[in-house]
Amino acid sequence: MLLTITLVLAALAMGHWLVPHLWLQARKRQHAVVCQRHKVVAITFDDGPGRLLTPLVSARLAEAGVPGTFFLLAQSVRGNEDIVEELQRAGHEIGSHGDRHVHHWWSWPWTGLLDTRDGWRRMHDVSGKNVRGIPFRPPYGKLNLLSLAYVRAQGTPLVMWTHDGYDARLGVDKSPDELADELRGSGGGVVLLHDFDRSLANASQQVLAKLDAVLALRKEGFRFVRITEMLALGAPGGA
Ligand SMILES: [Zn+2]
Repeated sequence: MLLTITLVLAALAMGHWLVPHLWLQARKRQHAVVCQRHKVVAITFDDGPGRLLTPLVSARLAEAGVPGTFFLLAQSVRGNEDIVEELQRAGHEIGSHGDRHVHHWWSWPWTGLLDTRDGWRRMHDVSGKNVRGIPFRPPYGKLNLLSLAYVRAQGTPLVMWTHDGYDARLGVDKSPDELADELRGSGGGVVLLHDFDRSLANASQQVLAKLDAVLALRKEGFRFVRITEMLALGAPGGA
């Protein structure tokens, strides 16, 4: 009896967590291969927009003539619509990161799905556009079986990252130079940074320093692209 219960629970866990986990890990590897093959870097920002930091990030990108991709939290878009419009005017790509940044593993099985849907609804209310077709990055890089099936059924492009800038909180050691070295070593990649506002003053500086280090790779022949351009390079028939 105990063995049966254990087997049933193991099978449920496999389906619910392991299948989406393996799927997303494979996605990450696909990104890495495409970036290396074409020597491209896609800089992405999660959890914004931040009233203070996002314009600073956008200004740095504009100075470098590089487009970025911003995976916005729908709950943070409210009240910051002008910043989102400015990002679009500046030629950056907008993606979705859900509504309230829920963890799709450590919540009810349906919570992640509902949060993804709510994020789309809120962003649709702001933009008036169909946002289900824009790239989606799952919060914490996690989906469960329900949310994976839901996002896939909408035809939404799923996006992960290959290089974590470790800028979301202080205390995790990865210097700007180390981040640039990692990218150089792997021949490109999808960089994860965060543009939400921080309470600690030097935390924003850390994000900008890491961004600068990545942008310096322009001099070494790396091409900087929006996430949709990177995905297109990996699609059948991609250049
Ligand atoms: Zn996030």
